[in-house]
Amino acid sequence: MAVKSIKQDYVFPNDITSMMETFKEMVNFCIKIGLQENISTLKKFSSLHYKDLSQFDIQSKYKLTAMSQAMGRLAQRKRDMRKGNAPKSPYVSKPYLVSCYGFMITGMLLSFPISNDDKFLVKLNEYTTSQLENVEPRSFTITSNSLSISVRKQVGQIIPENIIGVDRNLRNITISTSNESIMYNTNKLLLIKENTSHVISSFKRFDVRVKRHFQQRLGNRRSRRVQQHLHKISKDVVERAVESKSMIIFEDLKGIRKLYRKGNGQGNKYRRKLNSWSFYELQRQIAYKAEWEGIPVDFVDPKRTSQLCPICGGRLQEDRFHRRKLLCINCKKSMDRDVIASMNIAYKGWSRFCHPRGLLVEAMKGNVKYLQPLILRVDGSKLVEAQARAIKLTEPLTAYLGLRRLT
Ligand SMILES: [Zn+2]
Repeated sequence: MAVKSIKQDYVFPNDITSMMETFKEMVNFCIKIGLQENISTLKKFSSLHYKDLSQFDIQSKYKLTAMSQAMGRLAQRKRDMRKGNAPKSPYVSKPYLVSCYGFMITGMLLSFPISNDDKFLVKLNEYTTSQLENVEPRSFTITSNSLSISVRKQVGQIIPENIIGVDRNLRNITISTSNESIMYNTNKLLLIKENTSHVISSFKRFDVRVKRHFQQRLGNRRSRRVQQHLHKISKDVVERAVESKSMIIFEDLKGIRKLYRKGNGQGNKYRRKLNSWSFYELQRQIAYKAEWEGIPVDFVDPKRTSQLCPICGGRLQEDRFHRRKLLCINCKKSMDRDVIASMNIAYKGWSRFCHPRGLLVEAMKGNVKYLQPLILRVDGSKLVEAQARAIKLTEPLTAYLGLRRLT
């Protein structure tokens, strides 16, 4: 079963907003009791405290979801504490409403009950209705300005025939399949982040509240822009995986922030750049999009992925004439280090998931057909569907729509 949610902008009228306010108070009430009595299971809580919710003037089906929301938050808090992470405040701050009971979707309308004999109707837009085809709606969530519907569908996982290795870097994202490497330029993300931090630091007024509001607004804008940029890339990667029936392999970058902590002897600017690197967001997007299509996603250890030659398995040397290139003395070839890394990630994945006891070096030997991969450079910000299709159709890609062929 694959799950995802579809979001739509919608401004709700005042009476619905006040219902969301009641729901929020109810959730916070349950959290308060749960914290006092150390309860975090729905079964125990509802048998002890369901009666206490009679003070809230809302339909009883919403009381059930409020309790389960509160218990979910408390269980998450417990999990965080067990793992040694600093737990967030479990309380809800914004009015919202969730329910999996009593709502209906008919054509372009979603209806949910607001009292015993009254329903509220929401008109869904074209995108939402198109996404609702052939899926099973499970629950809906509303906030004061949006509606999201959680859906699920049965997906059969494909049996992978190929492998795509994804290498995430600060300035590009490189993927390698068995016969080509594609480099998505992400310089624009750096620019967005750099600009935002300049604008934020230009705020000079001595007013903490206004300043915080300003920072929040710009920070939200930054993450929306970064997300949208990465969505284009993740969509393209998953489409390629579906087309070639590939499995997607990432390097496991858990703990990479440790390398750029304060006191590690790096400059402020450098650390800011590396610590604002959104390597996880792409992984998150690709993982859920791939799950929806039945594409398996897995991780390999990033160790030595940019030290060994993907053709002969020998050790690589720095190329003195090109900063981003590495040289293999055996093969007498100099290749882009990001391409090498993504090819090695693909090979590592191949050797690990197709040959359980194989070694990286063995997997790379004898793969002569990988000798000269076609490297495409794609500007992620200009990536549109037509362009992605053009890559497949035209073989000599020289200077086509901003794409360059490099081998
Ligand atoms: Zn070599």
